[in-house]
Amino acid sequence: MKFWVEVASLGLVFWMEGIFPLFQGRDDRFRHALPNLGIGVLNGLIISLLFSTVTLKVMHFAESRSWGLLHQLSLSSWIEGAFAFVLFDLWMYVWHVANHQIPFLWRFHRMHHSDLELDATSALRFHTGEIVFSSLLRLIVIPLIGMQFIQLLIYELCLQPIIIFHHSNVALPEKIDRIFRAIIVTPNMHRVHHSQIRSETDSNYSSIFSFWDRIVKSFHKRKDTRTLVYGLPYLQEKEWQSLLGMIKTPFVNIPYKRR
Ligand SMILES: [Zn+2]
Ligand SMILES: [Zn+2]
Repeated sequence: MKFWVEVASLGLVFWMEGIFPLFQGRDDRFRHALPNLGIGVLNGLIISLLFSTVTLKVMHFAESRSWGLLHQLSLSSWIEGAFAFVLFDLWMYVWHVANHQIPFLWRFHRMHHSDLELDATSALRFHTGEIVFSSLLRLIVIPLIGMQFIQLLIYELCLQPIIIFHHSNVALPEKIDRIFRAIIVTPNMHRVHHSQIRSETDSNYSSIFSFWDRIVKSFHKRKDTRTLVYGLPYLQEKEWQSLLGMIKTPFVNIPYKRR
């Protein structure tokens, strides 16, 4: 089900990007999409092979022993579900900040930022190493929250379309973007996170709810996102855009302070 939601959202947003693009005249959208789709497929295979069974087992084990914060509070199932959703989104915010602040994690996360053109397929462009670390940490975070399988599934079913939406190159009018942005992360908000300017890269970390950045004061607004330059100044060469170059990105030595 998750897979089909992802495919449908990708297809819909990619099609809309062709009709209402923010950055126009991109020469080959399919050539740009291909390596991003490639890494997305690779990650999907590795995660389902390595983590789907073990995550289910850990969740079942924790649930049978009533581990986790949510089991300590006797809440109705709806309220508990809402808490699980918000707490897990807070974890996603913390994890994203850690990826920017910890040099070792940045090596992997910088591959997401080396994309020179943002579109729906950039939502899949995460290094396999980052996905593996995040899946390992989830094995601790999920029992700590006391999250159930159905709650995690609902979170992920919402997360995928929203991540695809906020990476899109659709020219959503600012008025509409602002309405959505009151609650969720929008294209105009996340585009700033992909700017080459370091202070902008280190802002707008939220995944689903936009309020985390407002609460922690990492929210950054840009008047005109059309003037943004995407990517990282030191990973501009074509080789970093190929599937092999993307996989190699964490292993080249660039002083952390230069980022
Ligand atoms: Zn980032
Ligand atoms: Zn992004």
